[in-house]
Amino acid sequence: MMNRRPNVVIAISIVLAAVLTAVAGWVMAQMREDALASARAATFNMTLLFERDTQRNFDVYALSLQGVIDAIDDPRLAELPDNLRQSVLFDRSATAKSLGEILVANANGDVIFDSRVSPPRKLNVAGRDYFVAQRDSPHTGLYVSHPMMARDGPDDATIGLSRRLEKPDGSFAGVVVGTMRLDYFRRLMSGIEIGAHGAVTLTLADGTLLMRRPYAPEMIGLNLAGSALFQRFGRAREGGFFGIGPVDGVRRWFAFRRVEGYPLVFSVAVAAGDIYTKWRARAWIIGSLTALLDALLIAFAVLLSRQLRRRELLEDELRALAGTDALTALANRRAFEARADHEWLRARRAGQPLAVMMLDVDRFKPFNDRYGHTAGDAALASVARSIGSHARRPADCAARYGGEEFVLLLPDTNAAQALAHAEKLRSAIETLDIPHADSPNNVLTASVGVASTSARDFESWRALVEAADAALYKAKRGGRNRVAVWQPSFARAHQGAGPEF
Ligand code: GH3
Ligand code: MG
Ligand code: MG
Repeated sequence: MMNRRPNVVIAISIVLAAVLTAVAGWVMAQMREDALASARAATFNMTLLFERDTQRNFDVYALSLQGVIDAIDDPRLAELPDNLRQSVLFDRSATAKSLGEILVANANGDVIFDSRVSPPRKLNVAGRDYFVAQRDSPHTGLYVSHPMMARDGPDDATIGLSRRLEKPDGSFAGVVVGTMRLDYFRRLMSGIEIGAHGAVTLTLADGTLLMRRPYAPEMIGLNLAGSALFQRFGRAREGGFFGIGPVDGVRRWFAFRRVEGYPLVFSVAVAAGDIYTKWRARAWIIGSLTALLDALLIAFAVLLSRQLRRRELLEDELRALAGTDALTALANRRAFEARADHEWLRARRAGQPLAVMMLDVDRFKPFNDRYGHTAGDAALASVARSIGSHARRPADCAARYGGEEFVLLLPDTNAAQALAHAEKLRSAIETLDIPHADSPNNVLTASVGVASTSARDFESWRALVEAADAALYKAKRGGRNRVAVWQPSFARAHQGAGPEF
């Protein structure tokens, strides 16, 4: 009998392993999402921090410039002596850190006041972008200039924050400009945690780079407006996205934010690799543990199924043994009955005849008495081998019916065929040439009774066996070492005769 249990065990283990893997995968995916979410929050917060700090400083600068404008507008200024005028003009601006010099230029661009020296250096700023912007439009407001490189080197680059000076009639009277060292932004950007491959940039609204981390002085002043990343900022006030670095090809999460009220854009980028570093380490651990568990689970199931299969084979063997006669290795009576049940129904369904042969060793009692029980056993085994070799087709069944009585079940066999077959068997046993001094032939012989459903429609296989038995009785009565076939006339003759053997 085929049992599916071993395969079911393996199937269950595979399903369990799949579930385990799915759960682990889900957890890892969640952890990955969390890693990204916290990186997004961190970069968002950094841009917010930069904006706040920058905004506060620029507000202070704007106030300082306003202070200068207010003082210039005061008619009493001209009456003051030089040193006093200097302190009145630039008093308020002294508080602003990182703010460099403040210059005041007239409508021609000539510097008329300088916060550092009095009288001012000879200098004309008419060509500077902040001067042009303020001159050409009365609505420019606070203007943030492009970077101005200092002679001392790129580290001292500055930007100018300028305001327009106007005459009472609103016409252009000049500019007041305060310089601011870009180093301020460099310090602002340093110290924050952005991972090994992170980047921070500050650009003007037009895309001009003011400061960058990692620090790259040669890039200050470059216009990035054309870059794909800058274009992705669009017009949004703030935002975030994944993008590929144009220089190093590194995938990064970019968060950007415009500084409210000023033409400045901060962006903070964290490399995807850095975002997922911790996650990757954990994923490796979880992943390998899961794989190990999966492997253990399946290996365990394979072992278990192998064990189950072995046990089943053993059970099959036991079952076969339980149906086998120990001395002759033929089927025993119980096994025969099961087969007879089965073949009986099959023959019925198929409309085929079923034959039964009953065989009894002749004068076996005296054989035992003369040669001993052990020799009797050996003789029985030889006879059984001969009987077994006459059960050739797969559906044939030779069995030890009890003692020295055997039975052969022959499906799809009519009475004539069964008779011929029985005669061969009888002859075969005789030619075994087992000496038997108490037999008229001097060798061991057997008598055979044969019955087939081709002769009559028996009501059950037991009736068929009884008929074969009746024929066997006939063979014994007829002188032994012969075959007899059941005939309908036996039925009447045998009726009520009772068990004679
Ligand atoms: P008959 O020709 O009428 O069949 O005579 P018989 O002596 O064979 O008659 P009976 O059936 O009365 O005797 C059967 C004997 O078979 C009885 C028993 O000693 C012997 N026998 C039965 N089973 C075994 C066995 O397993 N081993 C041995 N050695 N002898 C057995
Ligand atoms: Mg007998
Ligand atoms: Mg006998």
